[in-house]
Amino acid sequence: MVLGRGGYKFQNWAQTYGSSPELYFQPTSAEEIKEILDLARQRSKRVKVVGGGHSPSNIACSDDFMVRLDKMNKILKIDKETKQVTVEAGILLADLNKELDKCGLALSNLGAVSEVAAGGVIGTGTHNTGIEHGILSTQVVALTLMTASGEVIECSQSSNPEMFQAASLHLGCLGVILTVTLQCKSSFNLQEIHFSSTLQEVLDNLDNHLNSSEYFRFFWFPHTDKVSAYYQDPTDKPPSSKSSWFWDYFVGYYLLEFLLWISTFMPRILPSINRFYFWLQFSSKSERVDISHKVFNFECLFKQHVQDWAIPVEKTKDALIQLKSWLERNPHVVAHFPVEVRFAKGDDILLSPCYSRDSCYMNIIMYRPYGKDVPHQEYWIEYETIMKRVGGRPHWAKAHTCTRKDFQKMYPGFSKFNSIREKLDPTGMFLNSYLEKVFY
Ligand SMILES: Cc1cc2nc3c(=O)[nH]c(=O)nc-3n(C[C@H](O)[C@H](O)[C@H](O)COP(=O)(O)OP(=O)(O)OC[C@H]3O[C@@H](n4cnc5c(N)ncnc54)[C@H](O)[C@@H]3O)c2cc1C
Repeated sequence: MVLGRGGYKFQNWAQTYGSSPELYFQPTSAEEIKEILDLARQRSKRVKVVGGGHSPSNIACSDDFMVRLDKMNKILKIDKETKQVTVEAGILLADLNKELDKCGLALSNLGAVSEVAAGGVIGTGTHNTGIEHGILSTQVVALTLMTASGEVIECSQSSNPEMFQAASLHLGCLGVILTVTLQCKSSFNLQEIHFSSTLQEVLDNLDNHLNSSEYFRFFWFPHTDKVSAYYQDPTDKPPSSKSSWFWDYFVGYYLLEFLLWISTFMPRILPSINRFYFWLQFSSKSERVDISHKVFNFECLFKQHVQDWAIPVEKTKDALIQLKSWLERNPHVVAHFPVEVRFAKGDDILLSPCYSRDSCYMNIIMYRPYGKDVPHQEYWIEYETIMKRVGGRPHWAKAHTCTRKDFQKMYPGFSKFNSIREKLDPTGMFLNSYLEKVFY
């Protein structure tokens, strides 16, 4: 019999949301998960599974039962022929990357961090960049989930395809994802070429940049016209990464956090900080080669608030120019660097922000230096207004103020997803306050 414990306090990575679940479980098998769901049904409790706890929103919070699958983190099968790997959903991508390395395999794309679980990244539509690469959910070829009734369902393109189209980006509301099968490729090194440019140049030549590199992304430094751009491409060259404690940690981390903290008392110095950091760290060209996951992952520094909407790729220029002009007209609003701009290929996953269109993700950020909250409401509201104006859809893991009415307009497949959800979870066992706003 699996035992839950009381007194557990959950906090997400950014420490922006937390909850105190009545009971916290760490099951070791599907049978134990079934016992937890049976108990929840008997006591009319809600259940939330948490992966790496990295979602910046309250999507993983629960006051009733919380289930962490960190003991269900094994690799079940590696098929070297098809280059597919089947894992238990609690495995962290950091652990998976290491095991895949050993077999000469790798995931074709990853987000900025790997301390996230296989079940978690496909829960919120985690993405990276590359106009020919979909969000991470598009790497899923099959999965199994346990529904509220305890039934285990397998789905893929060939078995329960409609459920697969929903469960590949599941929001944690269809059931407990038990296993995930991911399409990998042969392991590869990536060469990253970093260069500086201007916002105007990058936007005027966007198609050219997108065609010049498999994984193109850029950072715009608000209050300036400066851009730091990155071409990342597979290479046969051996790793040649250099890291320097002084530049990476002292300058890039400790000094920056201190300066951002000072700017909370004197917001008018923030544009100078953005300019100074661009000049100090991002203005010169550089190159490095490393194994793919070490290039995909990057240092996300300290705690932060973020918003990240996907807009049709052809609206990239329009949206960024609108945001830049608004900041220029409202100098009392300050914005931290970077605005991170990435790209993803369209797909057919019902609640994917890239559903049926190639997309540009525009991630805005406001750090919380030493945990101190920085005013960001005006910036946040205007950003959302622009994103909605250009037909955007918010990242499911990150901040947004959208409700069911918005999602119904944004997603042609919203009603279909909701009816699958209602069928699999008629009593709303897997809902929480975040999901109530989405579905009610
Ligand atoms: C530092 C940092 C960097 C990030 N970088 C990126 C990035 O580059 N790109 C990007 O798109 N996002 C990024 N994110 C967001 C992050 O990728 C997503 O929030 C992702 O969902 C986190 O995975 P997780 O395992 O922590 O999931 P959690 O936050 O723990 O959970 C996410 C959702 O999945 C559900 N869930 C988890 N496991 C299961 C399961 N087995 N069964 C059912 N439901 C489950 C949870 O209930 C919840 O609804 C970043 C976040 C941080 C903090």
